[in-house]
This record gives sequence, structure tokens and C-alpha cells, in this order.
Amino acid sequence: MKYQQEFRDPELARKLFDEIRAATTKPWAIMEVCGGQTHSIIRNGIDQLLPKEIELIHGPGCPVCVTPLELIDKALAIAAKPGVIFCSFGDMLRVPGSEKDLFRVKSDGGDVRTVYSPLDAIKLAQENPDREVVFFGVGFETTAPPNAMAVFQAKRLGLKNFSMLVSHVLVPPAIAAIMESPTNRVQGFLAAGHVCSVMGFSQYPPLAEKYKVPIVVTGFEPLDVLEGIRRVVLQLESGRHEVENAYERIVTYEGNKAAQAMLADVFVESDRAWRGIGVIPKSGWSLAEKYRDFDAELRFDVTGIKTVESPLCRAGEVLQGTIKPHECPAFGKECTPRKPLGATMVSSEGACAAYYNYGRFAAGGK
Ligand code: SF4
Repeated sequence: MKYQQEFRDPELARKLFDEIRAATTKPWAIMEVCGGQTHSIIRNGIDQLLPKEIELIHGPGCPVCVTPLELIDKALAIAAKPGVIFCSFGDMLRVPGSEKDLFRVKSDGGDVRTVYSPLDAIKLAQENPDREVVFFGVGFETTAPPNAMAVFQAKRLGLKNFSMLVSHVLVPPAIAAIMESPTNRVQGFLAAGHVCSVMGFSQYPPLAEKYKVPIVVTGFEPLDVLEGIRRVVLQLESGRHEVENAYERIVTYEGNKAAQAMLADVFVESDRAWRGIGVIPKSGWSLAEKYRDFDAELRFDVTGIKTVESPLCRAGEVLQGTIKPHECPAFGKECTPRKPLGATMVSSEGACAAYYNYGRFAAGGK
């Protein structure tokens, strides 16, 4: 437990709560961008113990949740093709598409496999030269470097039977989109620490300046989250809007240069649709021209897909922080982790899953 217990110390937590309480004089709305932080907040009851003036708004930082329905449907169509081995991380398997999920494709005879690394998919492609191996490459800046590395390796090895269905999204354009939304209420951000471990936090000062909003790079343990909140509150109360790094044990200003070089080689910025939110300009990565042979969307004919979102699901509003999960009328009724209507109920970083799994059933609560 070393390196964990230190960040879960109840005495230190009490001290941080006291400091936040002493500093807070008016209502503030703070968004934790990352779903991992949302789960830490709900699991530890942090939102319930904060002064009533502070509202935590859960952000869109769950990669599985924001993968567009059309791409999920394309994944389902590719995975159902004969001769395909479709590889994905586990939490994608239960994300509902328009009609079914990847588990259903598997039970119908599709060869759908859970992998723990994109490089496992490369190995599968080497071991199965007569099959097409497709990896579902989703995620933020955190998961993008190993996915980029897999494509780089596939090219280096001359693999002709490997491709990637790419759905990578980027955090800074999402922050800009949230701040520019006419319904925006966010006054300060806890930036996602693991994204910043790759990209650094050099991208954030222009955002803090443009939108006059404090941004504090924050980790995931309870004390990390409390320290992030404390720093945002101190800035808000004193009228500052700066970028601070409260996750110094992991994050530097420049980030991981080797990972960034790999990303720059394999991907190019592109407009991306976010499930429940819509298209955000320059908010994602697609394969660069020299790697287009590995683009599963181009390799397989999966055009003309008609997507049908559940009319009951309000995940878009959850992801933008305009409603809390338990304010969705379907929460815990038509929609549960066993029978999810939206990705936010099944993903390990989904806000609806956090509220369900930690028993936050009461609408109107914090
Ligand atoms: S509770 Fe279910 S239906 Fe409601 S927003 Fe969340 S995922 Fe969608």
C-alpha cells in the first residue's frame, strides 16, 4: 500500500476539508474532467463532505463514454465479419451500440477478444497471418501512445493483417468547448493528471488565460482530489486564474517527450464526434497519411450505418455536467449496469456507473 496510504490519510483529509471550508465564502462550480476522479470523489464521499457552496460537476473524461455511437456500430459490424479477430479492452465489450454490444457479437459467433495491451493484438496478427486482426483504439492522450506504438510496430514488421479502429480524443479542445457552451456553469477545472503525465501541462496556460478559469492538474487519490479542489477554491476566492500542478510526483510542464514524438509520428489532429456531445473541432487524432493502410475504417466496408441512440438516455447532459446521473429518469430503472442504455453506465470511468455502484440513488443530492 505504500504510495497509496499516504494519499488516503484521514487526518490529512480532515485538515484539507477544514482549509477548503475556511477559504470558501461563496458558491463555486468546479469540474473534475476525468472519470477516474469522479469515481474517487463518489467512492470517498468527497462531494458530500465539501461545504455546500461547492458543487463538483462531473466532466466528459471517460474515453469509453465519449466514443461515438457510429464508431461503436462500426466496431460491431467489423467484429461480426468472418475471418476477423476483433480486439478491445474489456470495458468496451458491454457498451451499447444501436442494437447490440460486442458481447452479443461474440455470443453470435464473432471472434471478439479482450486484450490488455494493443501490442497483444500485434502478436495475434503475427500468430494468425490468415486472419484480419483489428484493435479498437480508443482513449484520451493517456492511452494513445501505446496505440501509436502498436501501429508503428505493425508498419515496422510489415504486417498486412493488422488494422486499428481509431477513436482518440483530446482534453484541451473539450475544455474549450465546455467553456464556450451557452449552458456552461464551470468556474474552475481539476485537470486530468494522467493525461498531463503524457502531454505535460504546457497546453493549459492559454486556456486559463482565454477563459479566465483556474486549472489545477490533479491526481486520483482522495488527498490529490482535495488538494486540487483546495487550490481551485483559493484561486477563485482571490480572483486568480492560473495553472497549478498539484500532481508533481507524476506530471511535469513538458510531459513525456518520447511518447509525444510517437504520437506526432503516427497521428494527426482531426475533428472528432463525442458521444452525446457532438463534433468538437480538432479534438481528436486520426492515423497520419503514412499509416493509413492500418485504418480499419478504410480497410472494411462499414459505410451507411444508421445509428439509433436510446431516446431515454441523457448521457450527453451527464457528460457536459448539466445533470447529475441520478437526475436521469432512467437511472436505476430502465438503465442499470446489467442493462445499460448508455456507455456512462458501463464504463469503469462512467459517471452513471459511479453513482450506481456507490449507491447515489437520490435525485437532487450533491
Ligand atoms: S442513467 Fe443510463 S440512461 Fe440515464 S444518462 Fe446514465 S447511461 Fe444514460
